[in-house]
Amino acid sequence: MLLEKLCAKRHKEDPKGAELPGHKLMLKGGFIHQTGQGLYTLSYLGVKMRQKIEAIVRKHLNPIMQEVNMPLITPAKLWEESGRIDKIDVLAKFESKSGVDFVIAPTHEEIIVDYAKSQIESYKDLPTTLYQIQTKYRDEKRARGGLVRTRELMMKDAYSFNKSKEDLNTYYFKVLETYHKIYKELGFNNVIDIESDTGDMGGYLAHEFMLINENGADTIYICKDCGYKANKEIYELNKYDENKCPKCQSENLEKTRGIEVGNIFQLGDKYTTSLNMTYTNESGEKSNPYMGCYGIGISRCLGSLFEQSYDDCGPILPITTAPFEVHITTLSANNKKIKSQAEQIYERLEKAGIDTILDTRDDIRPGEMFADADLIAAPIRLIISPKNIEKGIIEIKYRTTQTVDNLPHEIKINKTNKVAEIIKTLKAEYTY
Ligand SMILES: [Zn+2]
Repeated sequence: MLLEKLCAKRHKEDPKGAELPGHKLMLKGGFIHQTGQGLYTLSYLGVKMRQKIEAIVRKHLNPIMQEVNMPLITPAKLWEESGRIDKIDVLAKFESKSGVDFVIAPTHEEIIVDYAKSQIESYKDLPTTLYQIQTKYRDEKRARGGLVRTRELMMKDAYSFNKSKEDLNTYYFKVLETYHKIYKELGFNNVIDIESDTGDMGGYLAHEFMLINENGADTIYICKDCGYKANKEIYELNKYDENKCPKCQSENLEKTRGIEVGNIFQLGDKYTTSLNMTYTNESGEKSNPYMGCYGIGISRCLGSLFEQSYDDCGPILPITTAPFEVHITTLSANNKKIKSQAEQIYERLEKAGIDTILDTRDDIRPGEMFADADLIAAPIRLIISPKNIEKGIIEIKYRTTQTVDNLPHEIKINKTNKVAEIIKTLKAEYTY
């Protein structure tokens, strides 16, 4: 990508109307544009990040489930059958021209059961787990905080169908473990799972995945002695003492904040019973499958990466999900020799499969060029300048550590590989 062609304007001033630091940085760096309240347009930068997030999610889920795609607009009839049509306050309904009622889905339990009924007939068809990565709509009154809390959002939602409570439980914990691998590879440094209230969803057991973050909307209690953790709802529900761990009675209880980046539920047979889904079991009798559902907020993860780590210059993004891996800044690009050196390096990096953005603008000061690079937040910056070329080097700067190093300047294909090696080493840090 050539920076001068990039349709994602950076802004010098702090944007108005944004409170969270990550939200400000996303607007300032041109990753998002607010279209309406709780509604955002993602620029090419935002889309690139979302695609990288989705690819990591798919990589980990494909071995244990199958991807499908359900409609966003769904028949109200299914929501009436499950009894949820008037129970979910974020449900948006509308009547079509033909007088039929529809729901803009905020979640897909009803829809997946309708589909699974057409596919699952006997015990031989179980277990089956289906997932999708799709837009959802929640008719929230207050939607603030950028991509962390939107009306329209991108979500990964999965649904398992199991023969028994025990099978569901085993599979559920397999997903829980997979989630930790996903969050690690996405670049989150501190996501914990917390047992939570099953709430509106019904069922037996639920966990939330919380990114520990001081700007998060959720309150979390963590006992420093026994490791007990719980969210505010569980605390209020059980009327626990705020200053004492309910498990070991220690007063070493930390109250902290978090952003919920995923949740999983053991739903049991609530939906398969209400929507009358059965299969023929080994004894030839009709039985209701047990269900689990498993969500990851894709757009919320994207927003949370910006809330997680930043400094005065801009966001600090992980190499696994940053929009670009390498950002080449070319100083004195009006010098033809320098510009052509930069272009050669760019071509070789791209050829080696390295996601690179090249800045060869010759009408701005180096300070502006660096400020833009800070906002676009590639973890690796290469600085090409007449001074460096004279010394036979390319300067490499690591965003996370702010350290600077030199690479030899012979621009051979093996020097490109040197950058590939560096990226490989950086990426290894995000493996669980
Ligand atoms: Zn404790």
